[in-house]
Amino acid sequence: MLHAVAEAHSIDLHELHVPTSIGVSVYPDDGLDAETLIKNADTAMYQAKENGHPCYQFFTPAMNVRAVARQSIEESLRRAVERQESNPHDQPKVDLRTGEITGAEALIRWTHPVRGMISPAEFIPVAEDTGLILPVGNWVLREACRQARAWLDAGLPLTTMAVNISSMEFRAEHFLGGVFAILNDTGLDPKSLELELTENVLLKRAESTESMLKAPRASGIQLAVDDFGSGYSSLRYLRKFPVDAPEIDPSFVRQITGTADESTIVTAVISMGRSLKLRVVAEGLETQAQLTLPQDQKCDEAQGYYFSRPVPPEQFAKLLKNGVREAILTGTARKTCQRRIAIRFTKTFLTG
Ligand code: C2E
Ligand code: MG
Ligand code: MG
Repeated sequence: MLHAVAEAHSIDLHELHVPTSIGVSVYPDDGLDAETLIKNADTAMYQAKENGHPCYQFFTPAMNVRAVARQSIEESLRRAVERQESNPHDQPKVDLRTGEITGAEALIRWTHPVRGMISPAEFIPVAEDTGLILPVGNWVLREACRQARAWLDAGLPLTTMAVNISSMEFRAEHFLGGVFAILNDTGLDPKSLELELTENVLLKRAESTESMLKAPRASGIQLAVDDFGSGYSSLRYLRKFPVDAPEIDPSFVRQITGTADESTIVTAVISMGRSLKLRVVAEGLETQAQLTLPQDQKCDEAQGYYFSRPVPPEQFAKLLKNGVREAILTGTARKTCQRRIAIRFTKTFLTG
């Protein structure tokens, strides 16, 4: 069956290829009636789909455990969306030259009523499968823009607020209209908003992507490519699409341990970004060693636990006031930093 469906279908002079995923359940082990058998075959089919290439998958009871967990996430998430219970935390992006926080990335946080805090990596795919990502994404975007505007109004230094956009949101019919409506409602300058798209989303339908990015670009919205280098990168799109900032995938940054070989990719991306006049961001920095190389290579910005984990908005406001770890600065910039530390000491001293 897989081979038969894989053949090209000729429709209206177009050659169409249909990806196939087959789920199989077997009587009587996987169910005694048609309804159960079809339900379990369906579960196995979703598992096959996740493998990402045409294949078939036999049902196993373990899949049911996963399917139930998924369903529980879906139900609770639906309720959370209605009550607007999910809320974003913020993680700083830091200018590697000055040590200043340039931007925040809004990262959704959600507490499941029974399982507690669940990672977005687990529930975002469920939200995408069920279409819930549209109200969830809209809520995060609105919250992020409202928060950024409030910080700017309070005189706090913030250049951009970055929001992750998933494939389904980006392709949704009213996506751009929604973004502009939120900017309008919250009064945030489009130049202060950055949309983070993964390269796979950009490349999926390259032609429509190019035209879709025109309006946000013209309004000044920034565009970052998340997880740069992790997918089927086509370097041509860096020229073709109006990208502002490639964000080097953390898997490359984590390989920096000191030996030249392991840092080659990071060095190459930074120098390529510089020649294309893009703002390069190193993501997932955890150690001093991982900081030194991007800094030496004149990478523009970085993000990672080394500076700060994602924190609730109240804590982020404190980071904006006080700055992140002073250890980031070397050489000439250290003077400014020392001055900032001194001021911070005084403040702490005065407030006891
Ligand atoms: P991302 O956009 O690449 O965000 C960075 C992720 O890496 C965050 O995980 C962040 O907490 C984590 N991270 C940052 N620095 C470090 C580090 O130094 N070490 C390690 N180990 N991890 C670090 P998080 O918050 O769990 O989010 C995971 C992914 O979920 C995000 O990856 C993004 O793709 C997605 N996501 C999060 N919030 C949203 C949202 O509001 N909308 C959409 N569509 N996706 C979201
Ligand atoms: Mg991101
Ligand atoms: Mg990322």
